[in-house]
Amino acid sequence: MNPVIQSKLPTVGTTIFAVMSGLATQYSAVNLGQGFPDFPMNEELHGLVAKAMRDGYNQYAPMPGWRPLCESIAEKVEYLYGAKLNPETEITITPGGTYGLYSALTAILHPGDEVVVFEPAYDSYIPNIEINGGVAVRIPLVYPDYHIDWGLVKQSITDKTRAIMINSPHNPTGSVISEKDISELRSVVKDKNIFIISDEVYEHLIFDGIPHQSILRYPDLLERSFVSFSFGKVYNCTGWKLGYCIAPAALMKEFRKVHQFNVFSCFTPTQVALAEFLKNKEAYTSLSAFMQGKRDHFISLMKQTRFSLQSSYGSYFICGTYERISDEPDKDFAIRLTKEYGVATIPVSAFYQNGKDDKVLRFCFSKKEQTLEAAVEKLARV
Ligand code: PMP
Ligand code: GLN
Repeated sequence: MNPVIQSKLPTVGTTIFAVMSGLATQYSAVNLGQGFPDFPMNEELHGLVAKAMRDGYNQYAPMPGWRPLCESIAEKVEYLYGAKLNPETEITITPGGTYGLYSALTAILHPGDEVVVFEPAYDSYIPNIEINGGVAVRIPLVYPDYHIDWGLVKQSITDKTRAIMINSPHNPTGSVISEKDISELRSVVKDKNIFIISDEVYEHLIFDGIPHQSILRYPDLLERSFVSFSFGKVYNCTGWKLGYCIAPAALMKEFRKVHQFNVFSCFTPTQVALAEFLKNKEAYTSLSAFMQGKRDHFISLMKQTRFSLQSSYGSYFICGTYERISDEPDKDFAIRLTKEYGVATIPVSAFYQNGKDDKVLRFCFSKKEQTLEAAVEKLARV
């Protein structure tokens, strides 16, 4: 008799990103679905990796990360957010932002612990909670501007609440949190045994001069937080799968117990390269304007279509409704758009566990101008 797995994630299927990218390839569609740039990454950074490999940095990096990179991150964080971090004990280099979130949840959760998650939620969050025996307490962001209903959050807190997950700039909606949200968050967690897990993978991709409300700005919140970042996302090299997690030393100690027996350490040449690259502030201060230009170009092109775009203040994404075109469910419509019109998008219902369907699609604008133009030419026919 062959062994049979009793699934730990019985309701989970294949992620929507793989599904829509697969369809895009199958139907040779323009892919505005999965969030990845189609333009070349920064040449200097690319060159620094090649140099690191040539210079012989090809063996294991230390378990917490390449020390000069942790130091460069600490300097950047102090410059941007005023936080003084210990690069040895409070920063760990991770194979991507998702892994940082997963490891933080693994470090803190015990069976039955509750984690507050806002929906639409990036699709790894709930499976990451559940595989650790946790229970996701799902709170809908308020449609259509996707703000947080803090009254609802307060009602959802129980003595089992172990963490609140936040994500700003937000995937899929491009909404961002404000200082007021930070005060509300503070009042929810104050004097409670609740951790904050903050997904800040789009930290530099925030528009219209809005400051990024990083948890790193707030020492009283950072005390109880794991904050996850992604080099892949902000430096347009998503395939690198490299990021970092920041947490106070006592929390990081537990995080590293998980990390050291999972991946142990990350790809060395990219760490050596980034240690050097981050010394130039321009490397990260120029990113917002660059991505905002892409958002604005996409918004202006989309005026010739019958889609109605919502607002996006950050990330790679902007959402839009197709209410003037069809009343089909969003998944059906997204599939038809790919097959019949040659443009792949992501149906936003995929970010709700109960499949809530507001008939909204997510478009990724982190693309070459020609790609956005080719996509909109097709969308204008719909
Ligand atoms: N969180 C969010 C909200 C994301 O959109 C992504 C996208 N990839 C990640 C985490 C994961 O980043 P990484 O590819 O570095 O794991
Ligand atoms: N973060 C990317 C997105 O939201 C995709 C990452 C992935 O494919 N897992 O589209």
